[in-house]
Amino acid sequence: MGGILAVVSHPDDETFGCGGTLALHAEESRVLCLTCNPRSRKGELERACGALGLREPIVFEADNVDASRELVKRVADVVVAERPRIVITHLPFDYHADHRAAYDVVKEAIEWAAHTTTYKKPCLVERLLLMEINTLLPSPHVLVDVSETMSKKRAAIAAHESQLAKLQWGYYQRFSDEKAGLRGAQGNCRYAEAFSEESLARNGPFYETKATRNLLR
Ligand SMILES: [Zn+2]
Repeated sequence: MGGILAVVSHPDDETFGCGGTLALHAEESRVLCLTCNPRSRKGELERACGALGLREPIVFEADNVDASRELVKRVADVVVAERPRIVITHLPFDYHADHRAAYDVVKEAIEWAAHTTTYKKPCLVERLLLMEINTLLPSPHVLVDVSETMSKKRAAIAAHESQLAKLQWGYYQRFSDEKAGLRGAQGNCRYAEAFSEESLARNGPFYETKATRNLLR
């Protein structure tokens, strides 16, 4: 793929956290959702991905994110198969336990996906971006101008009917718009999505690309 893989805990996180960004790179982006509870949310997720212009999402039909070795392996297998340059997932200090667990799983999966000792064709992810759902970043590193895809993001939010029905006064739509407007002010554009960026570790001689000779090339 060479594009973006968004690994999210629940159907709707892909839209609220990075829907505008994924829609900007729709041809090269895909969503992996780690849970689907209840299963009826799968249809909503598929419709949301369609509204963003994405291919069908990969969905693991679990109830919660259990940071197990088995789940790390399954996510690493998807990374190796999809070969993204950028992975987007949740914040380690997010209020939701499933989001924090997803961060742990993704960090470990990215590491194993890059090892020549684990995979015949390992995938070294270049960038890890962490997104905002309801917990906001104090100091974002990356602001993506999503002004031109904001209408697609709104259409994708509308697809998550079961979630919107929980809060009838339009909380989700309003929070999404206000958040994108706030980040847009910081980015000097109408609407933006904010991310924290993490440097990825090099823990040993396990990668296809070895030591660097020249820092300036
Ligand atoms: Zn979530």
